[in-house]
Amino acid sequence: MTGCTANQFVPQSETALQDSALQQALSHAQTGFVKKRAQAIAMVDDFELLKFKAQAAKRNALSNLGELLEQFEHKVIESGGQVHWAGTTDELNACVVTLCSEANAQRVIKGKSMIGEEAGLNSAMEAAGFELIESDLGEYIIQLAKEPPSHIIAPAIHKTRKQVAALFKQYHALGDRGLEAISDLVNEARSVLREAFLTADVGITGANLLVAENGSIAIVTNEGNGDLSATLPRVHIVVTSIEKVVATMEDASDILEVLARSATGQHMSAYTTFFNGPKRERDVDGPTEFHVVLLDNGRSALLDGPFEPMLNCIKCGACLNHCPVYSNVGGHAYGWVYPGPMGSVLTPLLQGLDAAEPLPNASTFCGRCEEVCPMGIPLPAMLRQLREQQHQRKLEPFTWRMGLSLYSWLSTKPRMFPYCQWLLRVALKMLPKRLWPAGRKPIQAQGNSTFMKQWSQQSDKRSQSGE
Ligand code: SF4
Repeated sequence: MTGCTANQFVPQSETALQDSALQQALSHAQTGFVKKRAQAIAMVDDFELLKFKAQAAKRNALSNLGELLEQFEHKVIESGGQVHWAGTTDELNACVVTLCSEANAQRVIKGKSMIGEEAGLNSAMEAAGFELIESDLGEYIIQLAKEPPSHIIAPAIHKTRKQVAALFKQYHALGDRGLEAISDLVNEARSVLREAFLTADVGITGANLLVAENGSIAIVTNEGNGDLSATLPRVHIVVTSIEKVVATMEDASDILEVLARSATGQHMSAYTTFFNGPKRERDVDGPTEFHVVLLDNGRSALLDGPFEPMLNCIKCGACLNHCPVYSNVGGHAYGWVYPGPMGSVLTPLLQGLDAAEPLPNASTFCGRCEEVCPMGIPLPAMLRQLREQQHQRKLEPFTWRMGLSLYSWLSTKPRMFPYCQWLLRVALKMLPKRLWPAGRKPIQAQGNSTFMKQWSQQSDKRSQSGE
């Protein structure tokens, strides 16, 4: 997914708010994630200690990033694999296409990879003539629907069961078979994907972590599709990014302790596998070739700067699940690969502020994202810094700047301020309803006179006391 429509966040949000199927899907899914995370954390004696260890492991990795990446490369080569460096997403796509061509591949099976999404890898592979099949159930559904993912761990969260059944009916030879229950849908996808696993020439996966001390990559899934994509085809290509590296297996284990609990509310994901190089003589299965493609795409430029903490993100999705904005508009409104609070920071950093102008403002600053982030990433503070940058570069629309100037002038006039508020409410109430976004009502101007008198008196007192 290379096209970024983050600048269309506002109209895309309005469309999302009017989409009743999306609203239904979002409400069910969000509640489940939030509840399960809370239960999983309540079962741990000291979750703060787990978070502390995970954050320390990541901090250590970022402060030695160059050395650890070199060590990782050395260990991968030692175990019979190869590491490829991609500065940009185009370089990553070109590298993967070349590797697949050299392997005389036709069919490629792919596990879930946010780096693949960031690079628009699927389009590049299809343009090069390869048949690419997504193996993660959510990714497979949105591949059929020709849509981008709307959540970093649950890509088809915006689809209802009925919509998925309709997609399978459209693309699979179902005959008279009905797909009423969720288990019917899962079995149907399994039967199609099993054949793809067995006939694919190349398997592409992402990686949750890279371990420098032994050159291992960790893949975490709940469907086992990552393991099948990595072991059944004759070539395994890992597409990942440089900040995923950690020093030791112990560090990786500290991060895995918080990842599953924060993401899906599990003690540990159902399939947590470490891969290390191609098949050896004593192995019963595995690929004959093992490649790791490491993407930078602007990440190294964040090191030692105010946005370096964003590189600690382990893509658990907890900030999305607890965000009142994401919960209402879903992922597609954000217009690029990374939605929710982490996306509102990461998209402007990777795509540029000009390409994602509304995102730093797509927040209520309620602070829940930072509260639930297992890596302690100060998302609201970073959104504020992005807003400051926009203000300094005069990137806000002219009307916003005018509005802000008027507001800051008015807020120094304690007598005038409440009357203007009241006037505005009355004016908004008089607006025709069709001009209001769906489901929204004008703010009721109730009890204003009493409120205004009190507010004005308090303001006078504050002015007199010099507060
Ligand atoms: S910012 Fe924090 S909560 Fe959000 S996805 Fe990253 S690690 Fe998870």
